[in-house]
Amino acid sequence: MKYDMLLLRFGEITLKGKNRNHFERSVLMHVTSALKTYPKAKVLKEYGRIYVELNGESAEEIIGVLKTVFGVVSISPVRVSASELDEIIKTAIEFLGQVDLSNETTFKVSARRVWKGFPHSSQEMNHLVGSPVLHTYPQLKVQVKEPKIELKIEIRQDRTYIFYEVIPAVGGYPLGTNGKAMLLLSGGIDSPVAAWSAMRRGLKVECVHFYSYPYTSQLAKEKVIELTQILSRYAGKIKLHLVPFTDVQTSFTGIGQDNLMITFMRRAMLRIATMIAERESALALVTGDSLGQVASQTLASMNVIGRATELPILRPLVTMDKNDIVNLAKEIGTYETSILPYEDCCTLFVPKSPATNPNLRIVESVENSLSNLPELIQTAFEKTETVIVTPELNLNRNHEKIHDDVIQEKWF
Ligand code: ATP
Ligand code: MG
Repeated sequence: MKYDMLLLRFGEITLKGKNRNHFERSVLMHVTSALKTYPKAKVLKEYGRIYVELNGESAEEIIGVLKTVFGVVSISPVRVSASELDEIIKTAIEFLGQVDLSNETTFKVSARRVWKGFPHSSQEMNHLVGSPVLHTYPQLKVQVKEPKIELKIEIRQDRTYIFYEVIPAVGGYPLGTNGKAMLLLSGGIDSPVAAWSAMRRGLKVECVHFYSYPYTSQLAKEKVIELTQILSRYAGKIKLHLVPFTDVQTSFTGIGQDNLMITFMRRAMLRIATMIAERESALALVTGDSLGQVASQTLASMNVIGRATELPILRPLVTMDKNDIVNLAKEIGTYETSILPYEDCCTLFVPKSPATNPNLRIVESVENSLSNLPELIQTAFEKTETVIVTPELNLNRNHEKIHDDVIQEKWF
């Protein structure tokens, strides 16, 4: 298929005024940065739209990239013609010649004369282009309501755009237009999907991961770095905070409260994540919780766990079915990494029957009896390492640089 440019549409038409401008400028910035490896492609902005001149770059490849940019709702590949009747007809016929018209196909022309100096009205153009096209391709049958091919012709002074495909893209809000949140990233299937969903709503996301070395292996931590790298494809770069959680976690063992273990751990995680969020000016926490999925995700557990922080907790997956979460994980590319078998710190010391209905007063009084807990939490916070993860980063080299003391083996 030969195309000259791509037309990108924004969504969220309810946005007005200043917000709309901000929104559009952000999409423009993300589109431009997503295309930096395609130097010939040129990005142009117009109110309500973005155009990408291909200048010989592959339309298919660039569509593949732009489909994942948050805020872009749909993409149409466009042929460009001079704004002269003969040229427009010729280009339209050539364009449809690339389409498989082996079966009867419904069709109409929708012309729009943006440049009022053009000698034919929109109505006239529908006929002036429609008749030679129908004559050339007798398989086309005119149908005014919802035809399979609606050939759009937009006549402007300097040139005319001809297109008919509308390829759906990811939509949502441009990254960062709704503020910043701290995401609790485990190595599982759910939290990376929660991260992507939060980013799609315009949140800039930083990730925090808790590891319990040596109970969790170096590989488990590297898996989380790799997940962050996959997510960074949608964000450009992501800050990942790695929290040494062993001492906090082991302080909950041997106190005769095994069934509340996960409740304590989660509350401690939220406390530390809140400290990091405050330091980084993030206004919410995000988790991969899905209602009822496991004991710590019953409504009663969420209630008791959530009280450990004053920040709002966003749970983008809260009402989603596991199947849908898995499908989304496959689509965004995190699934294959998530199912690698390295253990998470929460799967350690897991009680036989974790509490599904913990009692807040009991939980708080046990926590208060652990006199060194605040200090352990403070130390974990202070010993947190931060890695900036980008799609281009060579993970091996980066690991050596940042954690050369603990790397034992590599798996990628
Ligand atoms: P996931 O697939 O995201 O691991 P899950 O269904 O396994 O989720 P849990 O293990 O109960 O559920 O974790 C619930 C949420 O708690 C996770 O989605 C994540 O946001 C957070 N969480 C759990 N373990 C960790 C960890 N080690 N580091 C950071 N966050 C974690
Ligand atoms: Mg998990």
